[in-house]
Order: sequence, then C-alpha cells, then structure tokens
Amino acid sequence: MDYRIGTGFDAHKFVEARPFILGGVTIPYEKGLLGHSDADALCHAVSDAILGAAALGDMGKYFPDTDPKWKGADSLVMLKECGRMARAKGWVVSNVDATIVCQKPKLAPYLVPMSQMIEQTLEIGPDRVNVKAKTTEGMGFEGREEGLSVQAAVLLQKEQES
Ligand code: MG
Repeated sequence: MDYRIGTGFDAHKFVEARPFILGGVTIPYEKGLLGHSDADALCHAVSDAILGAAALGDMGKYFPDTDPKWKGADSLVMLKECGRMARAKGWVVSNVDATIVCQKPKLAPYLVPMSQMIEQTLEIGPDRVNVKAKTTEGMGFEGREEGLSVQAAVLLQKEQES
C-alpha cells in the first residue's frame, strides 16, 4: 500500500459582526473570524493538509486572497476542490485528525457535526474525520481570545485499482 501524510495549520482573528464558521458549521457566538473567504480555519487547515500530502503545494496557490472570486467564499467548496485534486492524482483521504485551539466559546457540541460535514464534503466516512478542541488555559493569542488556530493531519491512500 502507498500512503502519504500531510499537515495543515491555520489561524484567524476574532472580530465583531462576522459569522463564526468552523468545518462548515455556523456556531452561535458574539464574534466571528476575519478573512477574505468565510475564514473557516478548520476547512483551511484540512485543505492544506490534503494538498501537502498529495504534493500539490498549498491553498494560496489555488485560492489566492487577492482573487475576488474567493471573497466571502464557502470554504467547503475549496475543501471539496482540494479533495478532487488529490483524487485526480490517484489519492483518497484515509483519515483526518484536527485540533482547534480556542479559548471561547465551548466547541464540544459542534465537533461531531463538523466531522460529519467534512466527511460529506470529501465523500468519505463515516468515522474517517475526527475534530478535537483545546484551550491554552489562557496563554497566547488563543487564550486572550484574539483568535483561534487549527492544526490538522491527513493520511492519503493510493486508490485501489479495480
Ligand atoms: Mg485561512
């Protein structure tokens, strides 16, 4: 079997008057994430991990934040496209594991819906995507609630010849 591993990282800043979207799930909160697209840091970290594992570069190469096409874009669309590009090179996503570093709000109720949304978008699963959440106990920019960060790991598997 041929496998490839990839990692992804992203961070976005909290601001007023923006929706708070992670993994395609809208989370009720007084603040949202700032970004050119919908600022879905979970989708961005997973997308970069897929591109990394498939040796396809990074998100900036395909979805530049200077391109008006991606202004306010749904990051699930970008994630789906990254999955498609990997597939075109013969890779399927075996599994995804991601950690959201966020002090507030509590994300526990939304972790399974986020996992399911990513599985549906990548047309894999069930039980192939896991999303976790951690605080930093008040330390750093996440702890000060200035923003959040996400780390992701993806394993790609060579598609079986049929
Ligand atoms: Mg981003």
